Amino acid sequence: MPDKQSPVIILGGGAWGLSTALHLSRSGYRDITVFERAETIPSPYSAAYDLNKIVRPEYEDPFYTGLALEAIEAWKTPLFGPYFHQTGYIVATTGAAPPKAVHHLQAALETIQANPVFSSKITALNGKKDFQDFAWQFSGPLHGFRGYYNRLAGYAHSSNALHAVWLHLAASGVKFILGDRAGRVEQLLYDKDLPIANRRCIGIKTADGKVHKSATTICALGAHAASLIPSLGRFTMARCWSVAHIQLNASEVDLLRGLPTTNVRDLGFFFEPDPETRLFKLCPLGAGYTNTLESGVSLPPADRLPPPQDFIPAADERKLRKLLQEVFPWMADRPLVDQKLCWFADTIDSDFCIDFVPDTQRSLLVLSGDSGHGFKMMPTFGDWVVSLLDAGEQTEARWRWKDVDTRSLDWAAAVSWRIGETRELKDLIAEKKR
Ligand SMILES: Cc1cc2nc3c(=O)[nH]c(=O)nc-3n(C[C@H](O)[C@H](O)[C@H](O)COP(=O)(O)OP(=O)(O)OC[C@H]3O[C@@H](n4cnc5c(N)ncnc54)[C@H](O)[C@@H]3O)c2cc1C
Repeated sequence: MPDKQSPVIILGGGAWGLSTALHLSRSGYRDITVFERAETIPSPYSAAYDLNKIVRPEYEDPFYTGLALEAIEAWKTPLFGPYFHQTGYIVATTGAAPPKAVHHLQAALETIQANPVFSSKITALNGKKDFQDFAWQFSGPLHGFRGYYNRLAGYAHSSNALHAVWLHLAASGVKFILGDRAGRVEQLLYDKDLPIANRRCIGIKTADGKVHKSATTICALGAHAASLIPSLGRFTMARCWSVAHIQLNASEVDLLRGLPTTNVRDLGFFFEPDPETRLFKLCPLGAGYTNTLESGVSLPPADRLPPPQDFIPAADERKLRKLLQEVFPWMADRPLVDQKLCWFADTIDSDFCIDFVPDTQRSLLVLSGDSGHGFKMMPTFGDWVVSLLDAGEQTEARWRWKDVDTRSLDWAAAVSWRIGETRELKDLIAEKKR
């Protein structure tokens, strides 16, 4: 059994790092320190630095459906409840959707239809009138829209949830070392007396040159993890998607209050507007963009913010304007503000990686491969890390470290959500300059 008094270091105060600190602390670990390169939490480098994220239980794999249902229950508990909004969830395809998008919707729907929890919670939608029964504000033509409404799902305010969990942990005795020098981890340190095949991680070095010793080191750096564990970059890939917003006025926010979270699989998704900032967030759907370095590993650009990523590609803007023309034509020509590319850690099969790094004598864990669907699990995620430490090995095959190089494989064919073509960030930047 792990020694709960010995020092545990968590790298990264994003969704999974904070959840891990929360569950370790709840299960009796007494010496936990989180290192985070941002000055405050939420960090602008976190994939969850955002107004909102979809919280939905439908997956093609019923394993994740079960986990997401547990997470939804945990979203309703006192610490997380203020940030969870069960607005319902509309999933649709347009009449022009590619077959892959239609299949993805059907496959996800089948997993929940087969689950008795959903029997009274799902309604099939076919045509404009059906959609307006659940979202009367949809004033556009909705050409060929088909899909369903799921009453169980909604969204969570991700930045506010991170902030609240950080404050809660700091008050419960978890230590935080923040900032681009003191909190930015530059190196993992290994015991020099041991052979490389049997090495032991004994701590970290931060950008201010300080060494911090640990018994257990947990790497939760999201898209950035392969910068410290390069072999992870053989089967996880930093990938980004576009995010943009429309600035609404007070009466427009009122108009859209209570709007179900809506995901049009061949165009993009949106949420009810944020009452505080009056921003209406939109994300186009697609295969995303990578930043492949000479080493063959994809990582987010190392530059400090604002990075060369405060824009969205022209093709994504067209997709979002098409989405607005179909659903809210009155917004379709508004400026898209606060544009950004947001990075996550993708795996070919969309499975998470929650495991010990091989040949480190269980001294180093990596929590990676969120594949763009990991935020919803924030209330429960850390419990899986506690179980891993208790068991001493990953019993869930999906989440094991993969000793394979997936970089040259066909990622688009591997899962049904990756629709369209992946492009490189450098090509997008060149296109923008033209
Ligand atoms: C555009 C977009 C939309 C998404 N939508 C959804 C959704 O609708 N639903 C959903 O469930 N999930 C969604 N996700 C995925 C979700 O955001 C991630 O699964 C989740 O944030 C992963 O958490 P993490 O802790 O692994 O990484 P992150 O939250 O990215 O945290 C990593 C942390 O590490 C820190 N860090 C990085 N390098 C260092 C360093 N060297 N030293 C110290 N700290 C460092 C960063 O500052 C950051 O705080 C989306 C992701 C994106 C990009």
